[in-house]
Amino acid sequence: MVKVSSPFAEVKDSLYLESLRCFRCGLCRTGCPIFEAQRSEDWNTRGRILLIRGLVLGDIPPSQQLVDRIFSCTLCKKCEALCPSKVNVTHLIHEARLRMVNDGVMPPNSYVKQRESILSLGTTTGKRSAPLDELIGFVEGVSRKNSTIFHVGCVASYSYPLIARLALETLTRHVSLGIMSTEKCCGGVLPTLGYDRDFKKYAEENVRMFEEKNVEEIVALCPMCYNTFKEEYPWSINVAHTSQIYEELLDAGKLSFTRRLDATITYHDPCHLGRYARIYEPPRKIIENIPGVKLIELEYNHEHSSCCGGPVRSSYPWIRDYLSDKIIRLASEIGASYIATACPTCFHNLYSASIISDSQVKVIMIDELVGFAAGFLSEIPLYKS
Ligand code: SF4
Ligand code: SF4
Repeated sequence: MVKVSSPFAEVKDSLYLESLRCFRCGLCRTGCPIFEAQRSEDWNTRGRILLIRGLVLGDIPPSQQLVDRIFSCTLCKKCEALCPSKVNVTHLIHEARLRMVNDGVMPPNSYVKQRESILSLGTTTGKRSAPLDELIGFVEGVSRKNSTIFHVGCVASYSYPLIARLALETLTRHVSLGIMSTEKCCGGVLPTLGYDRDFKKYAEENVRMFEEKNVEEIVALCPMCYNTFKEEYPWSINVAHTSQIYEELLDAGKLSFTRRLDATITYHDPCHLGRYARIYEPPRKIIENIPGVKLIELEYNHEHSSCCGGPVRSSYPWIRDYLSDKIIRLASEIGASYIATACPTCFHNLYSASIISDSQVKVIMIDELVGFAAGFLSEIPLYKS
């Protein structure tokens, strides 16, 4: 018997071993949003895995081209939903970024700035959000001290405070909620970029702040905050997404939709609510319960939903524009008059795309539909094109 020796036989590196699970079938090409936008294999899942393997083996040195291929992945998990070999792609990308950052490789500049903003200001936006504190004054029944806290998140508190205010107004009619004027970003972006050490320290500080205020439950408007608090923080408190609370209130008969909306509405599944948290039905149940509404599905829905490109909006904006524009176009092609979503970041990207393309499709948050149907809001959308 001939003994076959491999130059890699002794490589035990976990990243390398995980990369070997990819047998290069190429199915991920049908799902990877970055490949779709760039049309080149090195921007595809499979290509990235080969690059990571080369990086681990020392065959490929870090370079700007490599940074772009590795840091442009949105961690959307769409490839994982398609991969017959169940390659843990998001783990591979995260580990590769972690090693690159630890080796002193600089991520794209906008990500470096995001890190600085989170660590110094407690927000991803680069500016402390004034509307956040004002929300407390706006909404009757919302106190600073409460064991259940409504977490607004960076995007809504900075750019779409009317949506946050509406969600609070609706929820506090039925649920006792507090809001923290000292609210800080969940920090979820940090580990996605390889800043794991920063995140660990940051999350521990946030946990201390919540503990000092005796917080036992968090209701998050943003799916990324929801996942970060639920899966990444060193605690075990209850975390819910707003769509889950609306569903509970509907099921309990506490929330009733009395106002009619004669419209065809489609729903965009955010990556962090869908593929990450497996929360698909509560937003659909909300839409279907509104008198007069017809829910129609996008071509890519549930676990095959398209990524809006949110994570790359500052570093690779043309990719974000391409991806969000495509979702708006698909919504228009199926005859939707509204596209609803349950994530402030997806909302921001789709709303921007609808304005740029002058689309007739109106972009709304689930919270707006709830507020309108329950009679708390006289017209939608809150943010007009
Ligand atoms: S679908 Fe999975 S196994 Fe196939 S090429 Fe993509 S990552 Fe590799
Ligand atoms: S996680 Fe999304 S962006 Fe990243 S490789 Fe997979 S499909 Fe492409």
